[in-house]
Formats: sequence, C-alpha cells, structure tokens
Amino acid sequence: MNCVLVVNSGSSSFKYQLIEMSTERRVASGLVERIGEPMGRAVHQTDEGTSELAHPIPDHTAGFALMMAAFAAADSDLSEMPIVAVGHRVVHGGKRFFAPTVIDDDVAWNIADLADLAPLHNPANHQGIVAARLAFPSVPQVAVFDTAFHQTMPAEAYTYAIDRELAEKHRVRKYGFHGTSHKFVSEEAARFVGRPNAELKQIVLHLGNGASACAIVGGVSQDTSMGMTPLQGLVMGTRSGDVDPSALFHLARHAHLSIDELDTLLNRGSGMLGLAGTGDMRDVHRLADAGEAHAVLALDVYVRRIRHYLGAYLVHLGGADVITFTAGIGENGPEIRQEVLAGLEWLGIRLDRERNALPNTGPRRISTDDSPIAVLVVPTDEELEIARQTVETITGVAE
Ligand code: ADP
Repeated sequence: MNCVLVVNSGSSSFKYQLIEMSTERRVASGLVERIGEPMGRAVHQTDEGTSELAHPIPDHTAGFALMMAAFAAADSDLSEMPIVAVGHRVVHGGKRFFAPTVIDDDVAWNIADLADLAPLHNPANHQGIVAARLAFPSVPQVAVFDTAFHQTMPAEAYTYAIDRELAEKHRVRKYGFHGTSHKFVSEEAARFVGRPNAELKQIVLHLGNGASACAIVGGVSQDTSMGMTPLQGLVMGTRSGDVDPSALFHLARHAHLSIDELDTLLNRGSGMLGLAGTGDMRDVHRLADAGEAHAVLALDVYVRRIRHYLGAYLVHLGGADVITFTAGIGENGPEIRQEVLAGLEWLGIRLDRERNALPNTGPRRISTDDSPIAVLVVPTDEELEIARQTVETITGVAE
C-alpha cells in the first residue's frame, strides 16, 4: 500500500482524504471543523462507517492531532499506513508556481506571501501546511495550485487592459482557478472519447458553487473565465461573475458601501443568492418551478453567461472536439445542460435528450453519436488529481 494524504485546509476547518495509490481507493476521508471555537469536531469516514470526535481545537496543529485520533479510533492507525506524501490544495500560486511543488520553508513562506492575492484562501492553506509538516515531519509535502494549470494562457488572454506598470507592480492579471479540476476532467474526457489529449480541442464547464469555463488545446489551458480572483466570469452560487467595475464606484458613491462591504457583496451576497434569494441550484429550480419570477430570471442570467463564454471559446479555439460538464450542477443538472446547449445544432452540437436525463453515474456522453462535437458529463475528482500530481512530483524529485 502506498497512501497519499490529501489536505484541503480552510481557516476554521480542513478536509482530508487518504488515498491508496495503486488502486486509487479512498481508505478514509473526513472533516475537522470549528477550529478556534470552544468545541471542535472531527467527522471521519471509512468503508466501515462514520465516527465523530468532539474536542477543543485551538489551531490547525491541534486539528491534525484530532484527525490522527480519529484514524486511531477507527482502527486504522496512521502510523501503520505507509503515507508516501501529503498533498495540499493551495488556491493561489501567483506567477511563481506553475507546477506542483515540494514544500520547503521557502515555498511555504511564498505561499503565505501570496495572501494579498487570495486573502481568504492562502493564509488558511498555509496554516494547514504548517500543521501537516509538524504532524508528518519525515513525509514529503507537495503543494498543488488551483492556478497552475492556467499558467500556459497566452499574454493576450491573461492581460487586463489597464496601466501596464501599475498592473505589473501589483501582480494584477488573470490567473484562473479550478485548474486541478479542469486538468482532471479534460484528461478523463480524452480517455473517454478514446483519443490522445494532445490532438483535442476541449471546453470544460465546471459548474459547482464556484463556476468557471476553460478552453484547452492539446491538454494545455488557453483561457479561463475566472480572473485575478475567483470572482470573474460565470454567475456562481454567491459570486456575481462579470460586472462592470464602474457599478462598484457607483455603489460606493451612492449606496455608501465601503470596499470591504463591496467585496462581501460581490463574493458572498451575489450570484444566484443575490438574484433568487438562494445560492443552492436545487432551491432555485424549486422556486422557478413554483413560478417565482426572480428565480426564473436568475436561471436565464446563469445560462446566458455560460453561453457567452462557450461562444467565445468556440471562436478562440476555432471549434471544439469535446465539451464537458462537471461539478455539482454540471454533473446533476440536466435542465441547465439542455438550456446551455439549446439551438446549437448549427455549430455541431446535438444533444441526446434521453442520455442527458440519465442520473450521474460516471463519465458519459450526452450528445448523439453523430454529433460533430462530443458533449460529455465527467464527474470531477480534485482530491484524486491532487494525489496523482503529488506522487508524480515526488517521483520526479527522487529521480
Ligand atoms: P463546490 O463548488 O462547493 O464543490 P459542488 O460542485 O458540490 O460545489 O456544487 C454545488 C452545487 O451543485 C449546488 O448549487 C447544488 O445545488 C448543485 N447540485 C447538486 N445536486 C444537484 C442536482 N441534483 N440538481 C441540480 N443542482 C445540483
């Protein structure tokens, strides 16, 4: 057994998965939450069932101790499992990190230093890294960046048309996110259609709470809809996606909102939540089905924005071989998929309505067999991709 521990650390919680790499089987997964609150909790899952531990967790280091206690309580003592590496999800790699990277003091410091670009995420990712290095001092640790896959974008895709020197000085450009998912899904899609990734033009639509589109040629990201931060692009659960920046100046002047309030408004109080009153797509559908006009409009705005990017990427790429839907809504929302692709037969997109209506069982084709562009649904698995990249990275270093 060769296991990789995958850690996705937030500021007050972290998720983990232990993956056995020869079979890519989940040995265990769990969540440690309420770090910093008077009473914390660990929920641990294995094939045998779910267990819970409650204990004060003052910081991430104590959280890792509780995770190890949860493993021991479930009769799967971590010290007896051959963990070959710990793989960390890190949201922002800036310009510096364009590939998964073995973590040393310098790399850890640089991840923390990118906090100005991702203030909500990178400090929390860094806390998880510090705790994991203390908990597993002799195990290699690898950072896998959400931005890394998009470092291949050409300058005309990532450059904002603002003052060049100011932008350079403050690292203002498009970075793109969800890279781990876009990479995993596009590779799975190539496998599914049975063609080498190197010869495919692909568009991946990752539609979860966060959402982004990605244009990929030969396995290489050419453009993506998220920007310097994960706010740009598609309409999301609570994020607005594209908005005229002058709307913010207007709100600052006339609604007297501060910068922090505007930040919160666009990141946490907009998107489907702002338009329909709920950020959960299942609830938006329920409201729309009941005739709630705001929810109907919210769905129309949501779909139109996806079509906007789909059209743009079809032009950038000069067509596509494969379009793939993934993440919570992409995998489970046949209505959204149908609306996004409606009336595009002239482009070579022929949806098979019966296939589209089937439940989410794994990678599958939802276009007709004679559709020039293959449309797929491929479940994403960011943890597995992090584990794979972690192993590739330490193997490369060892060679
Ligand atoms: P995250 O970005 O947090 O990982 P997910 O990929 O889990 O998010 O996606 C969450 C979204 O998926 C929610 O809006 C949820 O309503 C939606 N979703 C989940 N199941 C369904 C379903 N059966 N039909 C439509 N939407 C769904």
